Amino acid sequence: RIMDTSEIPSDTIDSDNPLRPKTLEDYIGQDKAKENLRIFIEAAKKRGESLDHVLLYGPPGLGKTTLSGIIANEMGVNIRITSGPAIEKPGDLAALLTNLNPGDVLFIDEIHRLSRSVEEILYPSMEDFAIDIITGKGQMAASYHLPLPKFTLVGATTRAGQLTAPLRDRFGVVLRLEMYTPEELAQIITRSAGILDIKIDEEGALELASRSRGTPRIANRLLKRVRDFSEVISDGVITLEVAQTALDRLEIDELGLDQNDRRMLEAMIKYYRGGPVGLETLAAAIGEEAVTIEDVYEPYLMQIGFLSRTPRGRCVTAAAYEHLGYKVPANTAA
Ligand code: ADP
Repeated sequence: RIMDTSEIPSDTIDSDNPLRPKTLEDYIGQDKAKENLRIFIEAAKKRGESLDHVLLYGPPGLGKTTLSGIIANEMGVNIRITSGPAIEKPGDLAALLTNLNPGDVLFIDEIHRLSRSVEEILYPSMEDFAIDIITGKGQMAASYHLPLPKFTLVGATTRAGQLTAPLRDRFGVVLRLEMYTPEELAQIITRSAGILDIKIDEEGALELASRSRGTPRIANRLLKRVRDFSEVISDGVITLEVAQTALDRLEIDELGLDQNDRRMLEAMIKYYRGGPVGLETLAAAIGEEAVTIEDVYEPYLMQIGFLSRTPRGRCVTAAAYEHLGYKVPANTAA
């Protein structure tokens, strides 16, 4: 090994998260992505090859990291986990790549945040499984040609649109993760409850699910919080009634909106007559980062039809006015 990788933040998958499913079989929902992956994995295994590079995109908490671990597991290889911002220099990436074993999965989260200079050495690594590194300057400059093991890059991003075209084009498999239905989330909650030894009935699970914004990470988080309530205010079983009481106390309404969502929508209604309002303006008005609004708040609000994006900015819809108890102004989009 020519380089030391110990200083580059990378990790194997967090084994301390018992809620992560480890096989495609246990991965609930995302049927389209799952069926395609199943075929690609089986074909690659039959040919004795590494799996083609995979790009996973969709909002946070939908299971991208989990799926990358499953890919490695189903392929019977190891996984290294890192993220775009953690790879600062081309040498960092070179060190990660040269330390992989043949067939291994390298998972890069937030891959849209790779620096240009790192991206440039990623292209040939993905395509030719080799990198050329230049060290030193002037007469002292030397170039090294490093062959790499055949690996599978799994990239994850919340925004495929921000990826440069040459990077996007080098992924053989591109999968979009969708928000989960309440029924799928109820299944995830029931599974998690089993693992964590939490008692929950069917109606309780469905109530939690329908307030989890289509997102497994939120579903698992609410399950743990509501368990606390069930143990203190009741006999430890999460029923419909316990779930409703607990979630109301946590200020999560029946559609899963929390204080932040309501604050944003209300700011748009009160200060901007429901929009259109530009992203940066909105971010400044509610004291939140623009990326948080785009990645965390908006996908769900758009999914349930409370927010629309127009070329002139974001607009609140009539449905959102009604939900928040405001009178719908004339000429508001439905
Ligand atoms: P992302 O990488 O997209 O932000 P993660 O893979 O970290 O999301 O998923 C967040 C949590 O949700 C994980 O801890 C995992 O337990 C759970 N999870 C995600 N997808 C599923 C799924 N399809 N089935 C069961 N649990 C899931």
